[in-house]
Amino acid sequence: MELEKEAKKLTLGHEIGSGAACLKCKDKCEGFELHFWRKICRNCKCGLEDHDVQTTSEEDKKVGRLLEDTKYSSLIAKLKTDDHPLYKRNVVTLTSPVSAKKDVDIKTITYEWAPPVPSQIVAVRYIEMLPKAKQPVFGTEGAVYRKKQMARQLPEHDQDPSKCHELSPNEVKKMEQFVKKYKDEALGVGDIKIPEAVEMQVKDKGANDTGNKSTKTVVGAMGDGASTGQKKTIYCCYHCKLNMKEGDPAVYAERAGYDKLWHPACFVCCVCSELLVDLIYFWKKDKLYCGRHYCDSEKPRCGGCDELIFSNEYTQAEGQNWHLKHFCCFDCDCVLAGEIYVMVNEKPVCKPCYVKNHAAVCRSCQDAVDPEAQRVTYGDFTWHATTECFQCSCCSKCLIGQKFMPLEGFLFCSVECKKKMKT
Ligand SMILES: [Zn+2]
Ligand SMILES: [Zn+2]
Ligand SMILES: [Zn+2]
Ligand SMILES: [Zn+2]
Ligand SMILES: [Zn+2]
Ligand SMILES: [Zn+2]
Ligand SMILES: [Zn+2]
Ligand SMILES: [Zn+2]
Repeated sequence: MELEKEAKKLTLGHEIGSGAACLKCKDKCEGFELHFWRKICRNCKCGLEDHDVQTTSEEDKKVGRLLEDTKYSSLIAKLKTDDHPLYKRNVVTLTSPVSAKKDVDIKTITYEWAPPVPSQIVAVRYIEMLPKAKQPVFGTEGAVYRKKQMARQLPEHDQDPSKCHELSPNEVKKMEQFVKKYKDEALGVGDIKIPEAVEMQVKDKGANDTGNKSTKTVVGAMGDGASTGQKKTIYCCYHCKLNMKEGDPAVYAERAGYDKLWHPACFVCCVCSELLVDLIYFWKKDKLYCGRHYCDSEKPRCGGCDELIFSNEYTQAEGQNWHLKHFCCFDCDCVLAGEIYVMVNEKPVCKPCYVKNHAAVCRSCQDAVDPEAQRVTYGDFTWHATTECFQCSCCSKCLIGQKFMPLEGFLFCSVECKKKMKT
């Protein structure tokens, strides 16, 4: 009988992504296993989105839920069976015969998402105006980028209390109110339009409203603006302030008003500067935000579990907010309130874990240097700042407070000792 087999850990089969390989850590991760309250893998500490998981249907549920009870409900469908709103993601597959010398090659390209506009030409032109590495083409780095941004910008624990860890009934209530408020006041989905066409629409509307029967102004898009001597409207991007190229699609945001428009590549979050995934934006005080950064601008977020904090009791440490129970060691999860901790890569670690996993080793005695201990660091080497450890490698004279000569990790009190050691 093999001991190893008996010691295997049990993973719940229904957990999303369970056992999936980590694309970042490769063999170092035994497979995705969800930490019981952090939103990361217990094995390698990367996110679910870094693991090889097909999360598309979960994403479509998440976005479906986000757009439920908003004016964008035309983008979702309700399944009769379970009443769960599902995002009707616009997947576009283009097939174009490419004629080579002899035979005809069929080239197929699938966009995992494209703006839901009536004209496929406009949709594709929009995508082509994005940086190549961010175009959501199936099987490319652009599709991976979209998937990551989907997880990063729209965390499901920012909208669904059931995805949060042990909320009190009062916290659930506060969260539901918060979600309703942002759906009513900030959330929107960008619109792809040709600026010249928008202007005509607005003019049409204006003419009807005022009863003004004067002829419509024909602008640039019609190609005769210059010849008829009429002024062409110059459209400029709200983000980069540069002009739009005539006839190219632009992004509009209803919350911002139709007097503002963006280059497709400029429709980004004002905090993280990433492309707003699937054009889902939050508008606040004349700025565009992604979901995560809009929520961050309204509520504190726990540095431990990544959830927004709806309880009045929380703590601030290291420039971040924390649920009291989540200010824990990143390595062993012990609670750190009132304990000594060390920050490692912006994560708190308890003293025993620090000594075990991260502490520098004394060049002289080879023991870990306690985080509270006095030390001397020179180049890549660290020593205990004690008579026993920080001494001349030749004559053992203590070098604390003395001049010393380092040589490949050895210390010398004088040229003489250095010479003796070399021979
Ligand atoms: Zn990993
Ligand atoms: Zn992992
Ligand atoms: Zn721009
Ligand atoms: Zn952002
Ligand atoms: Zn927390
Ligand atoms: Zn620990
Ligand atoms: Zn030492
Ligand atoms: Zn010496």
